[in-house]
Amino acid sequence: MKDIAERIGRRFAVILFSGYLITLVGGFVSAVHFGILPREYSTLLVNQGVLPLAGLVFVFWSLLHFQRFITPFALWVRDYPDTAQSTAPNHLHLKLGQFNREFWLFHLGYIISSTLLLVIALRFNGIQLPTGNILQFLFIQTAAALLTGLPVWLYAQNQLGSISSMLKPQCIHASLTTRIILLVGIAPILAYFLLIDHFLMNTSNFETGMMILPATLLLFTLIVTWQAVNGIRQAFQPFQQLFETSGASTHAVLSSIQPATLDEIGQLTRTLGNAYQRIADKETHMRSIVDSAAEGIIVVDSKGLIDTFNAAAETLFGYSALEIRGKHMSLLLPDQFIPYTPIAAQLDEIEVIGRHRQGQSVQASLRISKMMISGKRMFTCLVGDIQQRKEAEKNLLDIEQRYRSLVETAHDLVWSVDHKGCWSYLNASSQLIYGLAPKNMLGQAVANFSAAECIDTDMIAFSAVGDSFSGYETIHIDADGNARHLSFNARKHRDTQGNVISISGTARDITEQKAFEDRLTFQAEHDSLTRLFNRYYFQQQLHKAIRQLTHQPASTTSLFYIDLDQFKYVNDTLGHAAGDKLLIAATQLLKKQLRHEDLLARFGGDEFTLLLYNISEQDAEKAAEDIRKTFDKFTFIENSKSFNITCSIGITRLNISHSSAEEALSEADIACNLAKSQGRNRCHIYNPAKRDQAGMAEDMGWASLVREMLERDRFQLVYQPILSLADNQVYHYEVLVRMLCDDGKVILPGGFMPAAERFGLIHSVDRWIIRHALCELGRLQQTNSTISFAINLSGKAFEDSGLLSLIHNLIDEYNVDAPRVCFEITETAAIANLDSACEFIAALKAIGCQFALDDFGSGFSSFAYLKKLPVDKLKIDGAFVQGLADSRVDQEMVKSMNQVSHALGKETVAEYVENATTLRLLRKLGVDYAQGNYIGKPREIPINLAHSRNPSEIRELNA
Ligand code: C2E
Ligand code: CA
Ligand code: CA
Repeated sequence: MKDIAERIGRRFAVILFSGYLITLVGGFVSAVHFGILPREYSTLLVNQGVLPLAGLVFVFWSLLHFQRFITPFALWVRDYPDTAQSTAPNHLHLKLGQFNREFWLFHLGYIISSTLLLVIALRFNGIQLPTGNILQFLFIQTAAALLTGLPVWLYAQNQLGSISSMLKPQCIHASLTTRIILLVGIAPILAYFLLIDHFLMNTSNFETGMMILPATLLLFTLIVTWQAVNGIRQAFQPFQQLFETSGASTHAVLSSIQPATLDEIGQLTRTLGNAYQRIADKETHMRSIVDSAAEGIIVVDSKGLIDTFNAAAETLFGYSALEIRGKHMSLLLPDQFIPYTPIAAQLDEIEVIGRHRQGQSVQASLRISKMMISGKRMFTCLVGDIQQRKEAEKNLLDIEQRYRSLVETAHDLVWSVDHKGCWSYLNASSQLIYGLAPKNMLGQAVANFSAAECIDTDMIAFSAVGDSFSGYETIHIDADGNARHLSFNARKHRDTQGNVISISGTARDITEQKAFEDRLTFQAEHDSLTRLFNRYYFQQQLHKAIRQLTHQPASTTSLFYIDLDQFKYVNDTLGHAAGDKLLIAATQLLKKQLRHEDLLARFGGDEFTLLLYNISEQDAEKAAEDIRKTFDKFTFIENSKSFNITCSIGITRLNISHSSAEEALSEADIACNLAKSQGRNRCHIYNPAKRDQAGMAEDMGWASLVREMLERDRFQLVYQPILSLADNQVYHYEVLVRMLCDDGKVILPGGFMPAAERFGLIHSVDRWIIRHALCELGRLQQTNSTISFAINLSGKAFEDSGLLSLIHNLIDEYNVDAPRVCFEITETAAIANLDSACEFIAALKAIGCQFALDDFGSGFSSFAYLKKLPVDKLKIDGAFVQGLADSRVDQEMVKSMNQVSHALGKETVAEYVENATTLRLLRKLGVDYAQGNYIGKPREIPINLAHSRNPSEIRELNA
């Protein structure tokens, strides 16, 4: 660039030097040539050195002078090499004007000073030039100055035009017009004048006709000049108009310029118009993009005045682009834009509060970027509407806070674990569960807290493999070293590739629940007195052992059924407490005989069962014998009384022919019973080949049948009428149970009851009967106000601890009138469980129920007991009634039983009344009620006699 500046300066010097030299030489040579300055004068002046000296002074002085003008331009070009991009500073404009002026003033100075110099120099030599010649010299000098000055000046202009971008278009226009006037007009005119002058000088005869040609030429020149200037003006007119009217504001307006001529300028105008059209199209395109942008786009100048305002900004602030353009940005964003404060770029998004046209505040995001437009610094403000985002953020924050406080205060542990299996979040519950604040656990591996036996499963659960889990129970160790049972629920979070990145979930401390469950399980599986396993658990284990036989038929397991021989006696004579003590002592004795793997259980009152796994037949027998001997040696001391205690042991070997636990148990039981019947204090091994044992084995079949029938609800109740002999009416019915087989056979209680009792099914049978009988009674009561039921209770009913409350509930549930329920208990059962029987009776009598002592006379036949038992009725055993008519003994027996009963305030019932004679006798003896097949067989529906028998029979009954 420095080169350019130097080059311009050099050229300038050369052209100016040659210009002035030519003017000088040309002016004097022409004056001599035209004879205005006689040759000898000029030679004189040259010889005297006046002319060369003056010429040299003039030329070099002018050179020095004009150097002043070119230097600032050259400097500017040097400093701003990219002149096309920047506007020339004002002083250059001034310099340019000054140059133009001084250039021509210099020429004027030359014309005058050269003429004066000539006149003065000649005067010194004593020569007087005629005035005509002086004026002619003046003219010649003017012509020379103009003719050489013009091209030089235009050339200088051209040189300066190389930096023409600094010149306004008007300057170019003026310059062109000037050039045309000068080159097309002035130069030819001067040339004509010189020619005419020359002609006149040489011919010195002036003819008017001669002037016509130059005059015509002059006129022609003027017209051509005028035409040219006009043409140029016309060609530039579209530009001129544009600049004057619109100030060339938009490309759309600029694109509207139309060429006024067809010359090069016209072409240029058209090209420009097209170019502007393309730019305008681009601008429209850009504008539509800007307007369709979702974000507000506001362009402001360096002072903060708004230039561009898109549609989104209009919506956001409520102003239209038209009304806001030119206003200050502080109107919209008062906090960000302060008048007279420089604007700074803001490339990162910030949140600002703006002001809407209606006055309300607007939440917005703001970014400001700087740009240069036509050398002007402008700023683009991107303003986003974040109102919705802010609201959503607030909502989210609220939800988060709510959620957080929920999580923080949750009783359960809320946790998350990273992909390495380390805690990454824990809520405050960690303190409750682990005794550690979350910060003391974060970053530690979960496995660090696992109990030794849970480490492996925990590692798998909390690793990045596998699925989410729920209810995963494990044991962790808390800060104090205590085991904590925890139940974990978890979700695994995966990235797009499916890799687990974290696991989160909740955990509940179930330590107490576990302990409770353990207690419950213990209770469910253990006997509370001896803390041995109970019947339920034992049966399960036995069942397992039998099932295992199918896989390992060679396995050798023995089952013992142990019964204490003296228990009943101790219990009855010393009471329950002593009985309990004996059981505990027996448990201790048995435990001492056990191997580690043996399973001992308390099966019933004084019955123990024992499973000995992996034992040979001989060893099993020896073990049984050892137990028997230990008991034999044992003396139980209570209240300073001593009792020799022995036991009877039934033994059976588990084998593949056993289909159920019951079957094996019944065998052991049978063996035990045989041991007892053979004189107690002995061991007996079950042998199916022996006949006595086969009968007992039948029971077992019954037991499983009863269980199946219970499950299938295949029991049925039948009702047998009990006739009141006082008024020959039937108010009472005895409820009797039947079992219905699939082949249509009806099985009587005698067939299945003993087995049910032996195998612990009797409670279920009792309950089934009571429930159905009370239900039926409740139903019948609604139509028959006098009917009442006698329900049989098994001998084991008193052992069923839940039975009392069940009866209570059922009476309530079926809305049964309690006094119409009579329970029959056998004399043997009542006496065997005297205390519990009395309690049981008292409890049900308290709500109004009645009691009858069944089968009286068949067992103890002790009137002493009768006194103790608070029963309402006495049922004389059928054995005394059946053959009453033919046996005087039976008649006496019935008579005395009837009398004693009445004496104790109890009513009597005679069962097994099978004929009219018996009935008549009973009436005579004063028995209160009669029951039997003669009066009515048990039927499925309790029907009043009057409806069930034919008239003759009724008459007989009434007789
Ligand atoms: P039980 O309580 O002495 O019942 C009377 C039994 O004698 C009934 O036999 C009845 O059908 C029968 N019987 C009635 N009148 C005559 C007659 O004129 N001649 C003869 N030969 N027999 C007569 P069943 O129903 O077979 O009951 C037998 C035993 O089974 C009952 O003796 C009772 O101890 C028991 N039992 C019956 N039903 C139930 C019940 O629902 N619950 C309980 N726990 N035991 C029941
Ligand atoms: Ca009965
Ligand atoms: Ca009976």
